[in-house]
Amino acid sequence: MSPLQSRAEARISASALTHNLTVLAARAGAKLLLPVKANAYGHGEHLISQIAAVHPGVWGLAVSVPLEAAEVAAVNPGTPIVLLTPPTPDELPLLADLGVRLPVATLEEAEALPANARAHLKVDTGMNRLGARPDLAVQVGRRLAERGLLEGAYTHFATADEEDLSFADEQLRRFQGVLAQLPPVLAHCANGGAVLSYGALPGMSLARPGLASYGFVPPHLAGVVPLRPVMTLRARVTALRTAEMGETVSYGNLWRAERPTRVATVGVGYADGYPRNATLKAQVTVAGERRPVLGRICMDQCMVDVTGLDVQIGDWVEFWGEGGVTVSDVAAWGGTNEYEVLTGVGNRVERVLVD
Ligand SMILES: *Cc1c(COP(=O)(O)O)cnc(C)c1O
Repeated sequence: MSPLQSRAEARISASALTHNLTVLAARAGAKLLLPVKANAYGHGEHLISQIAAVHPGVWGLAVSVPLEAAEVAAVNPGTPIVLLTPPTPDELPLLADLGVRLPVATLEEAEALPANARAHLKVDTGMNRLGARPDLAVQVGRRLAERGLLEGAYTHFATADEEDLSFADEQLRRFQGVLAQLPPVLAHCANGGAVLSYGALPGMSLARPGLASYGFVPPHLAGVVPLRPVMTLRARVTALRTAEMGETVSYGNLWRAERPTRVATVGVGYADGYPRNATLKAQVTVAGERRPVLGRICMDQCMVDVTGLDVQIGDWVEFWGEGGVTVSDVAAWGGTNEYEVLTGVGNRVERVLVD
């Protein structure tokens, strides 16, 4: 074993993920097509996909791009994988051979699919990002069915995580209109916001909650089902010093000591995904207490006020996790959302599986 240690680690709780998948599948009244795109929202696609693949509430795994599909397929043989964004024509044969389910939105794509492919018809019901508008979707779906390639059909909500569901209602109505004109398929539309807002949706076989599976929901949906954050981010203290009264800490001298202050330097920075915009706002948990981050958050490090605490080099500082600071807090301090904070967790951060 190498003596080299990572300075920062993302602890991934298998029990939190398993719990979330169980309660979300129950709430959806459907099996899950778990989004593991973007390195499983930063949690580590291998760890997450291997836990999810054996969960009874999970049908399959959803990825965004073909490279992710190939990586996830390699470690989860036999688990259905659905690609959510359009592949190029040259990518089709390999993806079909890997068994990856392919999104289809045009008649040309329906014709170009290899005979061993399985298609999920993508319907644009109002997001205006991908997919065929309803009239065309019916034609494309029928052509895929004639070729014996139509396995699923799906759409994506633009506003299901908001309190006003009127636009989502309209999207749902359009999608159900398309489904009514097709042979039976695996239909899926609900992201996390829709699973929590609507519960079971008539006619849907699968649901795709992403952020909720990792433990986060918008404030107005908190408490609909009990969810647990899956990731804890922590890093080691790498140096300690005392800043005397009047001295400054970090780039730009943004923070000045008003009293002698014990300063711990900690091995996580914005290159690891700790948002630089959280400078002068962020707090962490250290030795059981909430403490402020001092001055500018650096690329690889940040400094924390540990005055009066028993803290040594090598001790852990927690940046977010269960019970302390949350990813939502960090997102608010950084002027962003939980999606961006989680997907920003960098490669240097070791993903460690814990119970
Ligand atoms: C990312 C994504 C999801 C998951 O959305 P959440 O808001 O994280 O629940 C579902 N479906 C599609 C098509 C997506 O791109």
